[in-house]
Amino acid sequence: MGFEKFGAVSFTAETKAAEFIDFLEKGKVEATRCKKCGRVYFPPRVQCADDLSSDIEWVDLSGPARLLTFTTVHYGPTGFENDAPYTLAVVEFSNGARVFGRLDKSLPAADINVGMTVRAEPLKLAGDKISYHFVKA
Ligand SMILES: [Zn+2]
Repeated sequence: MGFEKFGAVSFTAETKAAEFIDFLEKGKVEATRCKKCGRVYFPPRVQCADDLSSDIEWVDLSGPARLLTFTTVHYGPTGFENDAPYTLAVVEFSNGARVFGRLDKSLPAADINVGMTVRAEPLKLAGDKISYHFVKA
């Protein structure tokens, strides 16, 4: 339990990676890394899809990342209708992890450029919910 706090719309309350929420509440965005092969997972996984190892460790994802691509949503899907417009992005961290998420809503459209440096930050939402977003570094 605990994962129901994640995001504006939660799809699951139970996961083996619920520790992710504890990290967010402490101000950290964390991924998991397989200690056997080094693959980094975000969203976090507690078992490696390549070698099925459960020997994982949590690694920080708050550091700088590069914006690879983005799009602005003007008509949000169910649960997100009132959030639009918002910008979705894929960013790449120095450890190779490519992460999907939203860009900071306060960032002016003219300031968003492919290649810009961002960092992941926890984002508190209404109703004691929490998520993450990317802010300009
Ligand atoms: Zn592995």
